[in-house]
Amino acid sequence: IGVFTDPKHNLWLDEAQPSVADIQSGAALEKGEVVVEIRSTGICGSDVHFWHAGRIGPMIVEDKHVLGHESAGEIIAVHSSVTHLKPGDRVAIEPGIPCHTCAPCLVGRYNGCERVLFRSTPPVPGLLRRYITHPAVWCHKLPPSLSFEDGALLEPLSVALAAVERANLRLGDAALICGAGPIGLATLLCARAAGAHPLVITDLDAGRLAFAESLAPGRVRALRVAPGDAPEALAARVVEAMGGTEPDVALECTGAEASIGAAIQAVRFGGTVFVVGVGKNEMQFPFMRLSTREVDLRFQYRYANTWPKAIRLVEAGLLSDIRKFVTHRFPIEDAVRAFETSADVKSGAIKVQITNL
Ligand code: NAD
Ligand code: ZN
Repeated sequence: IGVFTDPKHNLWLDEAQPSVADIQSGAALEKGEVVVEIRSTGICGSDVHFWHAGRIGPMIVEDKHVLGHESAGEIIAVHSSVTHLKPGDRVAIEPGIPCHTCAPCLVGRYNGCERVLFRSTPPVPGLLRRYITHPAVWCHKLPPSLSFEDGALLEPLSVALAAVERANLRLGDAALICGAGPIGLATLLCARAAGAHPLVITDLDAGRLAFAESLAPGRVRALRVAPGDAPEALAARVVEAMGGTEPDVALECTGAEASIGAAIQAVRFGGTVFVVGVGKNEMQFPFMRLSTREVDLRFQYRYANTWPKAIRLVEAGLLSDIRKFVTHRFPIEDAVRAFETSADVKSGAIKVQITNL
């Protein structure tokens, strides 16, 4: 891991740079661009995976690469065409830059953009750096009550918001959340705010489950699972933990085959298994259970149009418990330790952030 200080996103330290004066005046920027001084960046499981394995499925790190896509910072320069942001504004960065012209973009589902440049997905360099040039339209202004740390949490929160919205989770729905990592926990917060009840969350790790229970005392039941648990038996335990109710919706946030199978077994006739987790290329599901119970099996890919809503909901206090997720902070010079901590299951880390405050 290196720490890069290039002010222009497509350049490296050893390449020709525009002058600082040209950057600060906006002259070195393209239409619609701003320069953000990054102040907080969260580490995502996918960052750790790229670090360790060098690839996630077809996405392969083939050259020097910058990780990080959960960031917030301060605007230090704007192109003259940018009117809604100015130097000194504090913003959360939405890391995907869609093309605005393909079919998914044109219907507003820009998470499906065929030509998206998603920061930190190779070969697009990410946000774990001091400065980034980014389109202003993908920088969301933070209100005074949201810190840079809060701003960096809006990315994982966006995944959960997108899931709860597309899963049609509603007041009074019995909801099962599989997995108590940052995404499962953020989904738990969103499900709680949406009025889902009862709430049951599963994980392999007792520490994460204790954290989940502390987020919604008395409202969430934690269920510890073991890797070898049979899906049918686990489903029965879920229903028992729900007081005899079968979940209307399961929000699957592990991507583990066994967990998806258990969710399919657990939901009611006509229920929904909504899969946020990513996993193996091919998996086995209890097909006939899906068929004979009319279970909807649906999926989520990133998010669209979530930052404004996430900002409002954190500001209003409905999702402000997301702040509790940040268990560890490291200065950018200690980025390697930050990654080691994030990768260490025994560290008790939920969300590790790298700060340049
Ligand atoms: P994480 O690895 O921190 O958390 C996953 C949790 O699931 C861990 O606490 C783990 O103990 C638990 N787990 C693993 N197997 C389990 C099982 N069989 N039963 C119950 N719990 C189990 O990851 P995260 O950052 O919280 O992300 C969760 C998943 O969501 C990952 O697969 C990630 O790749 C995926 N993700 C998807 C999107 C998307 O756009 N669809 C976006 C972000 C993350
Ligand atoms: Zn597009």
